[in-house]
Amino acid sequence: MALSRRLPLISDRPLARAGLSSERVLMPNKGPGVFEEEIEKIEDALGITTVEKAVAWAQANSMWPDTFGLACCAIEMMSIVSSRYDISRFGMERFSSSPRQADLLIVSGRVTHKMAAPLRQVYDQMLEPKWVIAMGACASSGGMFNNYTVLQGVDKIVPVDVHVPGCPPRPEALMEGIIRLHEKIKAGLPPAYQIRGVAQ
Ligand code: SF4
Repeated sequence: MALSRRLPLISDRPLARAGLSSERVLMPNKGPGVFEEEIEKIEDALGITTVEKAVAWAQANSMWPDTFGLACCAIEMMSIVSSRYDISRFGMERFSSSPRQADLLIVSGRVTHKMAAPLRQVYDQMLEPKWVIAMGACASSGGMFNNYTVLQGVDKIVPVDVHVPGCPPRPEALMEGIIRLHEKIKAGLPPAYQIRGVAQ
């Protein structure tokens, strides 16, 4: 029975991973104090967390993507809503056609200079916090289109959180990029626009 399951007496989850600056973190060889052991037992038993961690968990698991399919990569992106890949598992079943109701811009395909301004406009209309995935070689670096019409990387106009390599990346690769982004958010890392600007 689940109710009769005994809780572990000593937690194996170090406080350092919970983001606390305790004496134990400063002196890792000293071992946990009695108070810290008691706190960890209570955290494990009751599921106590911080507000920041709860908000990050909610943000990572309710992220709505915006649609910005530009070329062949977009076909792979579209397939992640199918029953085979099913991103509704991550609370992402709705691809928004309105930037104001989207959190994640997945740029899939080559971005021409003509499309750069509309793309930046869509990004600016998204509410914060917002994230960007550059999907595929073309969105990340211009790919094979090293010419005057194609932007050599979407990070020249918007800050990119995750680059997904490939030409085209399979839907599994995009899923991994999305999961990595979720991990970053849950770990408390800020969105790219807070820590860096666009490439020069
Ligand atoms: S990376 Fe390859 S598949 Fe994707 S848009 Fe460029 S040429 Fe097409």
